[in-house]
Amino acid sequence: MAYDKNKYCRGCALPVYEGQFYSCMECKFILHESCANAPRMKRHPLHPYPLTLDNMASAGKETFT
Ligand SMILES: [Zn+2]
Ligand SMILES: [Zn+2]
Repeated sequence: MAYDKNKYCRGCALPVYEGQFYSCMECKFILHESCANAPRMKRHPLHPYPLTLDNMASAGKETFT
């Protein structure tokens, strides 16, 4: 497996490794921040609920020793 299937952008279908992204707590819907802000995403809303801006770095890099 090249990437976690639960962590790929629904906008561009690329994996979301790090950095800021929008996510839904209910259905794992996620988008790169850049994809969420892209004009085509606004013309074609793929998700009915508001998405929260999250950050991958805070979830995966807690240990800093
Ligand atoms: Zn994307
Ligand atoms: Zn959702």
